[in-house]
Amino acid sequence: MSIIIFNFFLERILSLLNSSRYDSKLPEEVRDVYDNEQYYKSQEYKKVNERFSLLTSTFSFLLILSILIFHVFGYFDQMARSVTSNPILVALLFFAIIMLASDIVNTPFALYDTFVIEEKFGFNKTTLGTFFLDKLKGWFLAAIIGGGVTALIIWIYLLTKEMFWIYAWIAVTGIMIFINMFSSTLIVPLFNKQTPLEDGPLKDAIQSFCDKVGFNLGNVFVIDGSKRSTKSNAYFTGIGSKKRIVLYDTLINDLSENEIVAVLAHEIGHYKKKHSLTNILLGVIQTGITLYVFSLFTVNPMLSWALGAKVHSIHMVILAFGIIYSPISTVVGLALNQLSRSYEYQADQYAKKYSNSDDLIAALKKLSSKSLSNLTPHPVYVFFHYSHPTLLQRIRALKK
Ligand SMILES: [Zn+2]
Repeated sequence: MSIIIFNFFLERILSLLNSSRYDSKLPEEVRDVYDNEQYYKSQEYKKVNERFSLLTSTFSFLLILSILIFHVFGYFDQMARSVTSNPILVALLFFAIIMLASDIVNTPFALYDTFVIEEKFGFNKTTLGTFFLDKLKGWFLAAIIGGGVTALIIWIYLLTKEMFWIYAWIAVTGIMIFINMFSSTLIVPLFNKQTPLEDGPLKDAIQSFCDKVGFNLGNVFVIDGSKRSTKSNAYFTGIGSKKRIVLYDTLINDLSENEIVAVLAHEIGHYKKKHSLTNILLGVIQTGITLYVFSLFTVNPMLSWALGAKVHSIHMVILAFGIIYSPISTVVGLALNQLSRSYEYQADQYAKKYSNSDDLIAALKKLSSKSLSNLTPHPVYVFFHYSHPTLLQRIRALKK
């Protein structure tokens, strides 16, 4: 409970610090991102989101504290045990009850966020049908991937006990690499359509850039992001022959040809600098360490009792461990964010070298303006939460 209370107040302090900078004077380099009306709108958007996150996080905070105080997890455990005595099935049922309950509680907030806040600021393109269909697909994936991994880990634990973390590590690594390679052909198509670039001047421009830097155009796809939101994006994913760069259709509509090539150059930069590979490697190491530390807790029945269960079980330890381990994962997260920001600078420098830094700056400004993003976040907030440097930092680095 101390950890949960600490996390909540840390988050509130970070959020307060960040909001203290909302009305700061805009630095010279980013003054032309917004016109007056758009700037006023972005200020409103920040404040509405801030109030909403205060509401949702306070609600979740009070809810989880009550759950711990009233031993709700213990009741969930009993419910699962009343159905079956197979330890793997008990665990799957137990997590299914938690997921379902948390989804029911969170859905009204998600609906409000999408259909009231995002709608009011003109971002939302999602229909209620798509919203609930996404939810069903999410449950389906959680059941297959989440359920599969949980069942596998518990099965390995029951078979091997002491050395279980090594076998679990090997299994989870295999699954992580598989998902990384095949998510764009197996998972993304459940939610979006990805198509090759249409013939035309944009494709020609991208083709000639790809030829110049040695990247296969066949790995560039356009995704129908406009199905859900007007916000735009581009990303690099996958490894080896499964690598691909995905451009949002919204990005293609909003940016000029040169700006799109500059964004593409940034994404190719991520590939050339092997960022995706390094991330997978770090993920594998992190998983190994987490599983090892976890294995030290598995024999101790106190964690199960602390959550209100009468019987010691591995799924109770998984849940308790998720809370106890969070200070460590926060620190790891800080390091990974720092690394991710340095990757962004590297990809920007790549784009500057092989494409054009003015085009990239123009593109980044348009993207920031379109998404009403915060141009003056607090540095401490950036340090904790930003996976990308701020627009101002990126512009300054590009102009150096
Ligand atoms: Zn990037």
